[in-house]
Amino acid sequence: MNEYDSSRMRDLLGDSHGFVRTDNPDEADVLLLNTCSIREKAQEKVFSELGRWHKLKKSRPDVVIGVGGCVASQEGEGILKRAPYVDLVFGPQTLHRLPQMLNDLSGDGERKRISQVDVSFPEIEKFDFLPEPRIEGHKAFVSIMEGCSKYCTFCVVPYTRGEEVSRPFDDVIAEVAQIARQGVREVTLLGQNVNGYYGSFHDGSICNFAALLRAVAAVPGIGRIRYTTSHPLEFNDDLIAAHAELPQLAAHVHLPVQSGSDRILAAMKRNHEISVYRDTITRLKAAKPGIELSSDFIIGFPGESEQDFQDTMDLVDFVGFDHSYSFIYSKRPGTPAAELPDDTPEALKKQRLNILQTQIARNTGRKTEAMLGSVQRVLVDRPSTRFPGWLIGIAENTRWIHFPGDAALIGRFADVQVTGVESINALSAGAPLWVESEAEAQIGMAVLPGRIPLWHEAR
Ligand code: SAH
Repeated sequence: MNEYDSSRMRDLLGDSHGFVRTDNPDEADVLLLNTCSIREKAQEKVFSELGRWHKLKKSRPDVVIGVGGCVASQEGEGILKRAPYVDLVFGPQTLHRLPQMLNDLSGDGERKRISQVDVSFPEIEKFDFLPEPRIEGHKAFVSIMEGCSKYCTFCVVPYTRGEEVSRPFDDVIAEVAQIARQGVREVTLLGQNVNGYYGSFHDGSICNFAALLRAVAAVPGIGRIRYTTSHPLEFNDDLIAAHAELPQLAAHVHLPVQSGSDRILAAMKRNHEISVYRDTITRLKAAKPGIELSSDFIIGFPGESEQDFQDTMDLVDFVGFDHSYSFIYSKRPGTPAAELPDDTPEALKKQRLNILQTQIARNTGRKTEAMLGSVQRVLVDRPSTRFPGWLIGIAENTRWIHFPGDAALIGRFADVQVTGVESINALSAGAPLWVESEAEAQIGMAVLPGRIPLWHEAR
């Protein structure tokens, strides 16, 4: 989500305002920090980075420093109290006002250094003001809804991004068609709870998420569709039917559960029992044989007992998750769970997290090994750095497959036979060099050498 917001900021400033992107803070005139407040660690990083930029500003006082994202939303003016040298504070729902805010900073010739703070939630006007996305590569995110109205007791999102608002159906489809014309073949529909999408048609009637998926699948050029994140509560029959029907819909679903214990789910206010989750998975697997599941877990939520944790591990066994994003509970100020007594020792929480991650990493490895000999449809993404002269394709289940092939294949779908399997357990010390992002390192991404028996273009 933050990656998506960052690229929108880039489009916004580059397109009509003539800024050129640089990765080197020393040569930048404007420094923007997009922030996340989902856990405390992410938030702490903001002020340490700002400290580094402060030094820079001392030698070049004209440099503009802006802080966007959820930490900005949450702290608002508070950012200026702690870091008075910051010029702009804007939230995820006001990032489209960035050019105007930058403009307001400089008065008639003489710079008015009055810091600008705008962290409001102006419905969904944002998308009307964003320029058309500029696409690099063949995979892209399309935001279909903003915010969250679930108010889980652990989570800051409703307070930092506002309530759930869906983008109109026509706007989403127009954006998908536009990026498909620019060469995008794989689209990831993005939102806090995408399956809670209820966008309006131009005649005012309402379209649900499954209907949106069917329309996206019909856009010429789109060969693969993913979506993230969804909520177990709204994973309805129509969505399960869409998985059975649409070959473009990746057989890999990320469905966060957080805990396998009914007691903890109730305390988190997830509004469903674990039987609902199990039943959804059972029906999804029946509708789409071979579908893989991943999830988010919070370990050590206040009051989590040994039995609650055991219930989570039982769920892990039942579903056989392919991977997970799992973290120890982090107390977020202003959320209801922050008031709950928490007497589980930190060491025990770490131990539980380790047990869960080890079990799921074992599943990841087993499922990777089972791919040996199979033919996988990959979206050919980029040249391989590990095997010079080869390419990297991304399989439906998100594994990378390296194979020899002509660079002309990049941006096309290819059927690749897996001839070797190398499973990286990046959770163990010393993540290998070819794990290229933190997210990939966390799920223990696999590298699978393959060869290419045949290929075809996207449907
Ligand atoms: N909308 C999704 C997930 C949204 S937040 C859902 O409702 O399930 C993304 C993930 O961050 C969550 O799934 C959760 O696992 C993690 N997270 C959110 N708040 C957290 C907290 N206070 N401590 C630890 N992890 C948290």
